[in-house]
Amino acid sequence: MENQLNGRVAVITGASSGIGLHTARLLAGQGAKVALLARRKETLEREVADIERAGGIAMALAVDVTDQASVDAAAATVLQTWGPASLVFNNAGVMLPGAIEEDKRGESTRQIDLNVQGVMHVTHAFVPQLLQAAANGVQADLINTSSIAGQYIYPYFSVYSATKAFVSHLTRHMRAELGAKNVRVSVIEPGITSTELQGHVTSQGVKDWLADAAQKYEFLKPEDVAEVVRFLAVQPPRVNLMQVVVMPTGQAT
Ligand code: NDP
Repeated sequence: MENQLNGRVAVITGASSGIGLHTARLLAGQGAKVALLARRKETLEREVADIERAGGIAMALAVDVTDQASVDAAAATVLQTWGPASLVFNNAGVMLPGAIEEDKRGESTRQIDLNVQGVMHVTHAFVPQLLQAAANGVQADLINTSSIAGQYIYPYFSVYSATKAFVSHLTRHMRAELGAKNVRVSVIEPGITSTELQGHVTSQGVKDWLADAAQKYEFLKPEDVAEVVRFLAVQPPRVNLMQVVVMPTGQAT
C-alpha cells in the first residue's frame, strides 16, 4: 500500500484544516510531493514540517484562492520546483447556510467567491499542468470537492447547495472534455464531516440542526474523505470514478 503515489506532484487547496489537511498527510505518506495551499501560512508550515519529519516531501504556499493572481503565482512555484502538478485536489470551500429571507448578502458573496470562483481560479491555473503531466505519460487527476448538498434539497442551504451543484456539474463537463487527453476528473460529494466547516455557521437554526444530528449519528472524519481521494488517484489509468458520494452511515440524505 505504501508509496502508491511515487512520482506524483499533488496540489491541495484548503490544506490547513479538515479534509484538505488529512488528504495532504495521506498523499505525502504515499510518496507524492504535496503542495499545501490555504491562507494560514503558519499552520501550513507546521504541517509541512511534520510531513518532512515523517520522511515526506511537501511545501507550504499561502494562497487566497479567491484571487486568481495568488493562485497563478502558486502554480508557477509548483511548476518551477517540482514540474507539472499531476494530482489537483480542488477542495477549499465555506458553508454559510441561512434563511434566504435573512438577506445575508455578505455570506452569499463569500460562498460564491470561494466555492465557485475559487474553484475556477484553481481550475484555470492548474489544468495546463495536468495536461502537461498527462502528455508526459504521468497519471493526471483533477478531483473537486462538492457536497451531498449539491444533489439534495435542504431548507436554508440554497446558496451553498447551488455553489456545490455548480462544482458537480462543472466536473461532469470537464471530465467529458479532459478524459480524451488522459486527465481524469472526479467529484467527491461528502455528507457531514467533522471539520472546522460547521464552526463558521452563523444561523442559530442550522447550529441547532447540526447539534441534533451529532446526537443522532456519527459524522464522517476528514480522514475518511482523504481515503476516497487516495482511492481515486490509485486506480488504473482506464478507470475514472466520476462522482463519489460518501455519507455518514446514519445520515439519511
Ligand atoms: P474546513 O473549514 O476545515 O477547511 C476549509 C479549508 O479551506 C481551510 O483549509 C481554509 O484554510 C481553506 N480556505 C478558506 N478560504 C480560503 C481562501 N479564500 N483561499 C484559500 N483557502 C481557503 O472545512 P472542510 O475540510 O470540511 O471543507 C473542505 C471542503 O469540503 C469544502 O469545499 C466543503 O464545502 C466540503 N464539504 C465539507 C463537508 C463537511 O461536512 N465538513 C461536507 C461536504 C462537503 P484557511 O482558512 O487557512 O485559508
